[in-house]
Amino acid sequence: MTAEELMNVSAKAQQVIETEDRYGAHNYHPLPVVLEKGEGVFVWDMDGKKYYDFLSAYSAVNQGHCHPKIIGALTEQAQKLTLTSRAFYNDVLGEYEKYVTLYFGFDKLLPMNTGAEGVETALKLCRKWAYEKKGLTSDKAKIIVCEGNFHGRTTTIVSFSNDPDARKNFGPYTPGFEAVPYNDAAALEKALQDPNVAGFLVEPIQGEAGVNVPDEGYLTKVRALCSEYNVLMIADEIQTGIARTGKLLAIDHENIKPDILILGKALSGGVLPVSAVLADDEVMLCIRPGEHGSTFGGNPLACKVAMAALDVVRVEKLAENAQRLGEIFRTELSAFAKTNPLVKLVRGKGLLNAIIVNDSPESKTAWNICLKLASNGLLAKPTHGNIIRFAPPLVMTEAQLRDCIQIIKDTLTEFAA
Ligand code: PLP
Repeated sequence: MTAEELMNVSAKAQQVIETEDRYGAHNYHPLPVVLEKGEGVFVWDMDGKKYYDFLSAYSAVNQGHCHPKIIGALTEQAQKLTLTSRAFYNDVLGEYEKYVTLYFGFDKLLPMNTGAEGVETALKLCRKWAYEKKGLTSDKAKIIVCEGNFHGRTTTIVSFSNDPDARKNFGPYTPGFEAVPYNDAAALEKALQDPNVAGFLVEPIQGEAGVNVPDEGYLTKVRALCSEYNVLMIADEIQTGIARTGKLLAIDHENIKPDILILGKALSGGVLPVSAVLADDEVMLCIRPGEHGSTFGGNPLACKVAMAALDVVRVEKLAENAQRLGEIFRTELSAFAKTNPLVKLVRGKGLLNAIIVNDSPESKTAWNICLKLASNGLLAKPTHGNIIRFAPPLVMTEAQLRDCIQIIKDTLTEFAA
């Protein structure tokens, strides 16, 4: 049976899927669900079926779908001024920069749009700092990255990916990167012996790789090593940031501050593509007029939306909620895993969690479980074949979470039978 048949896709939805297949590039392989409405933790398909969203657009919709405060900010600003470009000042960008730098504790912010652009910005900033402040010889700077990383899809970013799907036939690749194993401070220290190292780019938890949580203390060691060797620690919190892991930032679990922080996704509550790079003056002021930018970066619409989105995180105590509900989720599913042969492992932090399905990454088991979960009213998506990530909006209540845990348990039981 095809996925569409397994899920009883209606003729109406089937037509939408076929249109996309016919006219769109085939760069994604979605679950056969056609969504048309979202509110809070729920989404609805074209046929009116209601689902819990357990992906949150890859952790972009932390504040829940169509949060009234964020949509209010969007619609109000949309009627006033949307885009000026940075050729002129607009009356919101400065207010936004002040708000976000105070919120996260950095001197300055550089506004961009997508996550990948945020990462590119951080890499450029790091290289510039290395030549202008650290004194490296032109074109010699090297940035250390981690095996299993995911930082986006640009030519440079895929150059240092070790995922064959992300890389294959997209060369020639950008030089100047070296990968070390994740969660291995000794390997990092060895790489730092090279005097040309400018920075270390790291995800505090590797999201796309399957919610790889490093050992406690790893990030503290990374921070210390970066300081010792005078290289910039660049934290990519595009997926882990903005309350997802039970703290405002995932690095807050170890109380450290990176030299460069990259944010995206939930910075706008998933309403618009808004990313930002934060750093202190010593680093950020290495970029001068004309050296970097983006037509849409810092537009007043995005700035208003992002301020509203961050306000929701604070007012609704989303980090605290993610922390509390995450504990319940892992406790319940870890206990369940002992009784169900399909679940090998449950891992995560806050409301960024995953189960490892007891089958090979090449098998269709995790995909088929996700189809069944969707039939049972919960949307999740496999990553790397046999891993299912569970990342609901952080506005979820405990009763809703318990309802979801039951759906997941029932589905896995059904499946194991
Ligand atoms: N960095 C991390 C850690 C991510 O998880 C992602 C997207 O999933 C990106 C960067 C890229 O963000 P975008 O898809 O907005 O370019």
